[in-house]
Amino acid sequence: MRSEAVARSPAETLRICRPDDARGLGVETIVARSRGEVLHVFTGEIGPEISQHSLQVDETNHIADTEFIGYLSHACAPNCRLDMRAFQLVALKDMPAGELLTIDYAATEDRLFRQFACHCGAPQCRRWVTGRAEPPNVEGQAHLKGLS
Ligand SMILES: [Zn+2]
Repeated sequence: MRSEAVARSPAETLRICRPDDARGLGVETIVARSRGEVLHVFTGEIGPEISQHSLQVDETNHIADTEFIGYLSHACAPNCRLDMRAFQLVALKDMPAGELLTIDYAATEDRLFRQFACHCGAPQCRRWVTGRAEPPNVEGQAHLKGLS
């Protein structure tokens, strides 16, 4: 197992992990998963505020204080997606035990709490991740300019 487990919920087959020193916390699956499988049904506090670990539920509301989904890592070609109507985390790929779970932040968020550079390595990597309804900020424009 490549990551150090820092917390565990006995009722769940997910756990919070620390993928590497450079990034924050992540979430990994404890057991192997199949494409299409529902990995988790989530709950949390729903309201209008955007925070670092909140996720957008609808046009005006965001869910915070979730057990796992607020800690999912971003990837431009993710292995999971969030169903914000059913409040489910769904596998997009078959995955072995210990796999770090990822979602595409731009798929759920109109605006990110903080835009960031991406180095996920996917062919379609955006290189700078924003919400789906916002342009790159000044830092992002400079970052993208520096890459071209
Ligand atoms: Zn990327």
